[in-house]
Amino acid sequence: RVKEQGKNDFGFYAPEMDEEISKKMTLEIGLRKALQNNEFTVLYQPQINIDTGKLIGVEALTRWIHPEWGTISPAEFIPLAEETGLILPIGEWVLYEACAQNKAWQNEGHSPVRMAVNISSRQFQQLNFVDTVRDILQKTGLAPMYLELELTESIIQDSLHAISTMHTLKEMGVHLSIDDFGTGYSSLSYLKTFPIDTLKIDQAFTRNIFIDQKDASLVSTIINMAHNLELKVIAEGVETSEQLHFLQQKRCNEAQGYFFSRPIPAEEMNSFFQQQMIANP
Ligand code: C2E
Ligand code: MG
Ligand code: MG
Ligand code: MG
Repeated sequence: RVKEQGKNDFGFYAPEMDEEISKKMTLEIGLRKALQNNEFTVLYQPQINIDTGKLIGVEALTRWIHPEWGTISPAEFIPLAEETGLILPIGEWVLYEACAQNKAWQNEGHSPVRMAVNISSRQFQQLNFVDTVRDILQKTGLAPMYLELELTESIIQDSLHAISTMHTLKEMGVHLSIDDFGTGYSSLSYLKTFPIDTLKIDQAFTRNIFIDQKDASLVSTIINMAHNLELKVIAEGVETSEQLHFLQQKRCNEAQGYFFSRPIPAEEMNSFFQQQMIANP
């Protein structure tokens, strides 16, 4: 029944609005305590070179495990963290954790791989972002070439000093990639001016390779364009051997997805360091 008091200007009352708001507030309060309570953890997802079948990198994907609510997906808490500014301490913690983990693998004697870390727009816009990165690399002892920052096209649009930040990071030896490439509605012209190493084909395209001919065309066009611009290209969301085979034929450089592994805890990465991930690359 319509509740008189709760009526808004449009004359209707939607209890789910209140619910939404109070759910968000509860989440926000939880998020504020999450760092100090050690509730975040980082999972790692293997990235494979399609030509050699070897592990060449991992992507750090953050999970929030609340003692009562269980695991909260980054799709839910990252936007809230961005809105509240909590992404700054959280993002810094993730970056430190991921770099330290990568260095630890190297110390254990594994062949070095790249660690890809997602960076949100708000983090990247911080005037001291480069200092934070430099500081973390120094503290963890990780060489800059083993760090890759995954940026989105929105960062390029949002940030006035994005290009100078990118150049500084590039000069330090840090790799830069564009995540979810092709979903950001931005002009392609940034590709010629920004010092980017890699394009990541969004999983929405990969998923539909055999479902929609247009997605297949987009995937192969992105691969060709990347190569013509001397960029590397990685496909995310690879779930089947057919998708992998398609990418191989189109000469995509790298792949990542459930076909190889879901994001896993650091301890479970060990077997992936030894193994050849594609039998006949
Ligand atoms: P993303 O960076 O594009 O990461 C890829 C997402 O796809 C991850 O979801 C991953 O678990 C999932 N995925 C990987 N392979 C497959 C596959 O084969 N099939 C399907 N269906 N999904 C696959 P996740 O871990 O839930 O992360 C979602 C998004 O949250 C990420 O998208 C990224 O934008 C953001 N995110 C995660 N961790 C962080 C972080 O530490 N900082 C920031 N700023 N953002 C993060
Ligand atoms: Mg990513
Ligand atoms: Mg992505
Ligand atoms: Mg994404």
